Amino acid sequence: MSKIHILPLHEAQKIAAGEIVERPASVVKELIENALDAGATHITIQIEDGGKKLIRIVDNGSGMNYQDAHLCTAMHATSKIRSIDDLKALHTFGFRGEALAALAASSQMTIITKQADTHEGIHIIIQEGIHKITEPIAAQTGTIIEIRDLFCTMPARQKFLKKRETEMGHIKQLIDAIALVHPQVHITVYADAVLIHNYLPTDNLYERTANILQAKAHNYTLVSCTKELDQMHLTCFVSDHHYSRYDRTGIMMFANKRWIKNIHLSRAIARAYMNVLPEGRFPVAIVMLDIPGTELDINVHPRKEEVQFVHPRTIEQWVHDSIKETLNTQISHLLQKTPQNSSFPVYKENTISMIPPMQPSYTASYFYQKSSQEPSISILSPALSITPSPNTYPHTNGQSEIDPLPQEYEIIGQLHKTYILVHHAEGLLMVDQHAAHECILYSKFEHAVDHNAPIQLLFPEIIQLTEAEIALLEPYLYIFKENGIIIEHFGQTNLRVNALPACNKQTSTEELIRTILNVLQEYKALTDDELSVLLHKKLRAQMACKAAIKAGDILDMQQMKLLLHDLYATKDHLTCPHGRPTCWLISLYEIEKKFKRKM
Ligand code: ADP
Ligand code: MG
Repeated sequence: MSKIHILPLHEAQKIAAGEIVERPASVVKELIENALDAGATHITIQIEDGGKKLIRIVDNGSGMNYQDAHLCTAMHATSKIRSIDDLKALHTFGFRGEALAALAASSQMTIITKQADTHEGIHIIIQEGIHKITEPIAAQTGTIIEIRDLFCTMPARQKFLKKRETEMGHIKQLIDAIALVHPQVHITVYADAVLIHNYLPTDNLYERTANILQAKAHNYTLVSCTKELDQMHLTCFVSDHHYSRYDRTGIMMFANKRWIKNIHLSRAIARAYMNVLPEGRFPVAIVMLDIPGTELDINVHPRKEEVQFVHPRTIEQWVHDSIKETLNTQISHLLQKTPQNSSFPVYKENTISMIPPMQPSYTASYFYQKSSQEPSISILSPALSITPSPNTYPHTNGQSEIDPLPQEYEIIGQLHKTYILVHHAEGLLMVDQHAAHECILYSKFEHAVDHNAPIQLLFPEIIQLTEAEIALLEPYLYIFKENGIIIEHFGQTNLRVNALPACNKQTSTEELIRTILNVLQEYKALTDDELSVLLHKKLRAQMACKAAIKAGDILDMQQMKLLLHDLYATKDHLTCPHGRPTCWLISLYEIEKKFKRKM
C-alpha cells in the first residue's frame, strides 16, 4: 500500500490558515485590507471577546457581485493579480487570494455584500469551508464580513489564543497602525459593544498621528519631517528628547502604507537618538516610506509583515540622517526661542557666546596633569589609586583667574545637594550638577590625547560571560585595546582584563563590557569603523559618568561657578552623554502662572 496521499482540500486550507492567520489581529488586518482594497472610506470594526467570539468588519467599498462573492473564499481566488509579474506594479494590500479561503476553513463565516449598481445584495454563510446558505438580501453597498468562533475547527490552535485583553491589545495596535497611514478613511471601532475609537477622516496626517499617539497627553512634542530622495518619499513623526520608552513598541514603520517589521530599519531609527536618549531607551517614531514597488520584496512572508528592501543600507542611512537632522533642528529651534511658555532646557545661544573662550581651569588641568603622569608607572594594583578621587569637584580656595559667569547670571545656591539654582534674566535656571560635570568631562576626554594609555593591572580582573557573548565580543577586543583596555580570552567562558587606561581605573570593567555587549547586539549592522567610533564614545561616556561629581556632593559657591563656567564653555552642553538634560530653565512666565499673577 502506498504511504502518500493527497490531503483533502479543507484540511490543506486549515494548515494554510495557521500560516496566514496567527491570531485575531491578523484576521482584522486581512479584512480591513480587503476593505481598503475595495475603496472603502468608512470602516466599522466590531470585536467581541478579543476577537475570539466575533470579528465583524463593515465597509462601504465596491462590494462583490454574485459570482465573486461565491468565489472569494476559494483557495487562491484573487481579483488583484493574474500572474507573478503583476506583483511589481501592485497597488493593493492583498494578492495571494488566501485570506478568505483560510478564514472560511477555520471559522463560521458570514458574507453580506452588494454592489452599487444592483438592487439586492448576497448573503452567504460558510461553515468549515462549506457553503451552507446563499440567498439574496437587502443590504447597503459595500461588504460585511463576520468571523465567529475563530479556529473552531482547529482546537489545538484555539488553545494558543491569549486572554481577551492581550488579543484586544494586538488588535488595537493593528487598527492604530492602519489608521495612521489612512487618515482620509473614517474608522470606527467597537469592543464588546462599546465604542472605543472613532477616527474621523482628515487630510491632515499630523492631526491623525498626534490624535492616535496622544502625544499631548504624554507630554511630548511630536516633530515631523518630510524628505525626498530619487523616487522615494519619507514622512516621519518622532518624539522629541523629552520622551522615551523602555521598549521599541513606539517605533512603527510603513512602506507604501503597509505596516512592516524590519529590525535593521528599527535599529537605524533608534540610533538617530544616540546621545539624545539614555542607553536602552527608545523613542516614539512613526516612519512612513513611499517607494517604488521594485524597491521592495513583500513576498517573503505569508502575513506580508517582514519586508526586505532592495537597497537596505541606503534607506536605513536616509531615515537615520533625516531623523537626526530633525532632532537637531528642533534643539536649535529651542535654543533660539524665547522661553516664554515652555519648560525646555534652554538658555540662549548669545548668552553663551558672551563667555570668554575656555581657559584651562583647575578642573581641566586636574585630570590631565594626573593622568598624563600615570603611564610611567607600569604596574599598579587596582586598589592602589594614585589619583585623588575625582568625585569631588576641586576646591579653588576662592581664587579664580577669570570670572566665569556673565553679569546676568547669579548663583542662588544648591538645592538638595544636586541642583545648582541660577538667577537668570528670563527666570530660574536649574543645573543638574552630575549631568553637567559628566557633559564637561565627556567633552574633555575627547580632546585628551593620551588619556587612554593603559596601565598594567597587578591583579587582572576576571569576567565570566557565556560562550555566545564571548564569540560576539572577541572580534572587537582590538577596539578596547585602542582605548587602553587590554582584554584577553582565556578558558571557555572567561575574559581577563590585563590593563586599563589611567583615568578608567574607577570604572567597573565588567559593567563596561556589558554595556558594549548591549551595543553590539543593538547595532549589529554597523561597519567596524562605525562601531569603533561608537564604542569609543560609549567608553568615554562611561568614564565621564564614573569620574563626575554625584548628586549629594556638597559644592561651595566657587565650585559651582567653575562648574557652570566649564559647562557653558563645553560645545554640546545641553545634554549629558546619556542624553539627560544638564539644565532646565523655568521661565518667569511659568512661575507667575503658578502664582496666578498671569493666566
Ligand atoms: P486577496 O486580498 O489576496 O485578493 P482575499 O482572500 O483576501 O485575497 O480576498 C479574495 C478576493 O475577494 C479579493 O481579491 C477581492 O476581490 C474579494 N474581496 C474580499 N474582501 C472584499 C471586500 N471587503 N470588498 C470587496 N471585495 C472583496
Ligand atoms: Mg486580502
